[in-house]
Amino acid sequence: MTDGPPAAACESLNPEMVSNRVIVVGAGAGGMMAAGRAAERGAKVLLLEKTDGPGKKILVSGKSRCNLTNACDREQFLSMYGPNGRFLHGAFHRFFRDDLIAFLKTYGVETKTERGGRVFPVSDNAADVVEAFRRHLLGNGVEIRTGVSVSGVAVRDGRVEGVRTPEGFIPARAVVLATGGATWPATGSSGDGYRMAARLGHTVTKLRPALVPLVVKEIARAKSMQGVSLKNVRLTAFRGPAERIDPARTPLKDIGRGLRQRRKKGPVIESRMGEMLFTHFGIGGPITLLMSLSVVEALEEGPVSVAIDLKPALTEEILRARLQRDFDQFGKRGLRNLLAGLLPRKMVEPCIEMTGIPADRPGHQIGAGERERLLGFLKALRFNIRGPLPMTAAIVTAGGVSLKEIDPKTMGSRLVPGLYFCGEVMDIDADTGGYNLQAAFSTGYVAGEAASAFQPSLEDGSEKRRKIR
Ligand SMILES: Cc1cc2nc3c(=O)[nH]c(=O)nc-3n(C[C@H](O)[C@H](O)[C@H](O)COP(=O)(O)OP(=O)(O)OC[C@H]3O[C@@H](n4cnc5c(N)ncnc54)[C@H](O)[C@@H]3O)c2cc1C
Repeated sequence: MTDGPPAAACESLNPEMVSNRVIVVGAGAGGMMAAGRAAERGAKVLLLEKTDGPGKKILVSGKSRCNLTNACDREQFLSMYGPNGRFLHGAFHRFFRDDLIAFLKTYGVETKTERGGRVFPVSDNAADVVEAFRRHLLGNGVEIRTGVSVSGVAVRDGRVEGVRTPEGFIPARAVVLATGGATWPATGSSGDGYRMAARLGHTVTKLRPALVPLVVKEIARAKSMQGVSLKNVRLTAFRGPAERIDPARTPLKDIGRGLRQRRKKGPVIESRMGEMLFTHFGIGGPITLLMSLSVVEALEEGPVSVAIDLKPALTEEILRARLQRDFDQFGKRGLRNLLAGLLPRKMVEPCIEMTGIPADRPGHQIGAGERERLLGFLKALRFNIRGPLPMTAAIVTAGGVSLKEIDPKTMGSRLVPGLYFCGEVMDIDADTGGYNLQAAFSTGYVAGEAASAFQPSLEDGSEKRRKIR
């Protein structure tokens, strides 16, 4: 394979000059960790970043508070990545949560654990994390060049020999691709790494948006409730159109990734209880984001709809009895008044419209059929899903460089000696909770360490790796 530089643009390929240089492409969570670790292990490291500064995505993470990692046990942690979590076993063995927390502490960043085991800096300021890395990198002699967009990895005679940039070729002994995913391109990650890896022969598995809001077909209905945030509701995604939803199939417990209840065959795709919200295009909020990847995947096979149980703590029977009791007790009150005690204010008019019951109908005149329509609204408010928002609006990219072609012990390419990967550019994604950043930090650590130890044989292009202590 030859993907080399134009001769005129090349720095001298004198092996003495480049023998110890590791280039890390991308100064995100994974890249900064990789660069720092490679330098700690004695490599001369050049960190190339295309935006004007490092850690742009860290700065927006966790609503700029940076949910770094999670306090849950390791088995639970790994289950958050789905089947691909197995790949991370070794990296977590090498560098895990406690190592990350201790590392940050050495740079004065104390951490705290919040609800759901989410770990944040005590300062609630993501900029402190980036600053810690900046000091770590400078302290270890890493050269950081910002505003440099790498356009390709140069490979000659089957091994890495540097990177190509608009300014020319920069030679290196090993290259770590830490370019992130394809979401939130304003932070610099616009999928470059996938294209570079594919050009070198790597398989890139299908890219899908994950942790993304969902667009519904009934946009006007969602828009009429825009801004309403619902707490303690159950959102269930079903295969098939909304009119075919059987509310009796709504699970009583959560089903989804990282949960003991696995996704089963049958109409239910995933179900979660928690917080969600209505937007001008559909639904968002924590439980929507968590369920979005399975919805996106199910949409490839056919229509998908969701049902919102607004009163999951009450069974249908109990809620029916409660509605009837209210209608009897406050028989002179009109429906609009009665609903005010049951629903957020902005949902009252949509409920009246959807159930078709006159707004001023007094409680004692509401018939059994009308009561059942109200019950349907409260226990299974349905929407047909049109699709996710575009990739650029997702929190993470599902899919990426195939893990089959990466050695989990080193993060090294199995195809191109001297090439390493870390972070979201690989086929790894997880739920919210600090898992995505921990994966980037852990794989960055391993990739940096292995890249620093990589020794190409200049004679035959085969790789030799010093054993990592
Ligand atoms: C809004 C938002 C909030 C999030 N919150 C959390 C959270 O709280 N907790 C959590 O665990 N995860 C969170 N994530 C996900 C997490 O931030 C990412 O999974 C993680 O940052 C990925 O790290 P990375 O190093 O692989 O990629 P990135 O952090 O995206 O870094 C990649 C870097 O490579 C650079 N780059 C790309 N192409 C090139 C090129 N051609 N040349 C040079 N440089 C290049 C980019 O500019 C970028 O700086 C959030 C994501 C978003 C979008």
